Amino acid sequence: MRVLDLTHTIAENMPVYPGTETPIFAGANTYEKDGFKETKLTMYTHTGTHMDPPAHLFARRSTRSPPRSSSARRSLSSAAT
Ligand SMILES: [Zn+2]
Repeated sequence: MRVLDLTHTIAENMPVYPGTETPIFAGANTYEKDGFKETKLTMYTHTGTHMDPPAHLFARRSTRSPPRSSSARRSLSSAAT
């Protein structure tokens, strides 16, 4: 089986869902001031590679709802194993 990695790297210039903003990386802590470096990342939940249908597009539906079609259920099931 050939596996394609469709993962988007989270970056300020990455493609995002239309109408949302790109991720924001803001310096939060520094080695000099705090003894460690940390970046605050702000982004929307639909940013980057993810699977969340049908909640992404339909009200009152859950991300955890099983797919309605049996072929989609089989695809998700085989992808999880
Ligand atoms: Zn989504």
